[in-house]
Amino acid sequence: MKKAGARTIQLNQLTKALVQSGYEINLKRASCKVRGLIIPDQNEIFINQLLPINERVITILHEMIHLYDAKLDEDETEATAQAIFANLSTAELGYLEFLVA
Ligand SMILES: [Zn+2]
Repeated sequence: MKKAGARTIQLNQLTKALVQSGYEINLKRASCKVRGLIIPDQNEIFINQLLPINERVITILHEMIHLYDAKLDEDETEATAQAIFANLSTAELGYLEFLVA
């Protein structure tokens, strides 16, 4: 069942948006509560390395959804990230884990 606010977006649409953005994914250990952040000035997506791997995967999905559709609000973006995460194949999960490892 889809969560309220979740949009139907395919992972390949998100990876295309990521590649087209030209943003680099940078993992940093940050003891703040921020899980991830798009920093356009530095051409980077920051992902908090202190998060467990599954949380990092959901966070990169969340940030990719922002890139793909900036009009979605935080709740819609997070619900969509959770919905995509719940339906990942093993290969897709492996690819995303590689991005944030
Ligand atoms: Zn967000």
